[in-house]
Amino acid sequence: MNLAAEQISTRLSGITDPQGILRKGLALIEGPVALASSFSIEDIVLIDMLQQCERQVRIFAIDTGRLNEETLEIAETIRLRYGIEIDWYFPQQTAVEQLEREKGLFSFRESLENRHQCCHIRKVEPLQRALKGLAGWITGQRREQATTRGGLQPIEVDQVNGGIIKLNPLVYWSAEQTEDYLKQQRLPCNRLHQSGYLSIGCAPCSRAVQPGEDARAGRWWWENPEHKECGLHKR
Ligand code: SF4
Repeated sequence: MNLAAEQISTRLSGITDPQGILRKGLALIEGPVALASSFSIEDIVLIDMLQQCERQVRIFAIDTGRLNEETLEIAETIRLRYGIEIDWYFPQQTAVEQLEREKGLFSFRESLENRHQCCHIRKVEPLQRALKGLAGWITGQRREQATTRGGLQPIEVDQVNGGIIKLNPLVYWSAEQTEDYLKQQRLPCNRLHQSGYLSIGCAPCSRAVQPGEDARAGRWWWENPEHKECGLHKR
């Protein structure tokens, strides 16, 4: 963490509730801010909390071309419920065409390198375009979601994406706290959760998990846990 990051992090010390992190964190960001949404339970909770904030926050999503129908349905439900605009970003057409022509439709199952290549084309490159011109972005990441997220901070300087601010308001919340908020506010969620999906990404790389399994056990289940990130949240 550089000096600026440490200074910023100090301003939020002692604040652990998501609304407090959102409010204080947004006040520290000078310039446009956006929420990256995959329409997970976390993202829906944050979209709801943002309705109570005065600050204008754009919402963007990435359509990788391999999303479940259920994910598109909940995205549309949320758009209509709040009357919000969602900026959808797609992968570069020529990059996807070349990938599928040269390696087929399921190359991501063949090696970690191929999986990272697919995630880069379908997720990371569109994310980089979505973040252009922003002073900060908000994510629904929580520490307890995965071994790769244990060191997550409520506010970070995103060195990978040009040194903009990254706000993680749900960092300290458990899955139960997040679901409780959803229930209390009577918010809808992706229908796949009823079928045992805890973490939902692209259709061919997500599946239901068994009771007691890690939330991200259903993502890229053929890989080791320490590799289970798509590159959107490199630190
Ligand atoms: S999650 Fe799977 S299908 Fe989606 S971009 Fe990554 S490797 Fe490709």
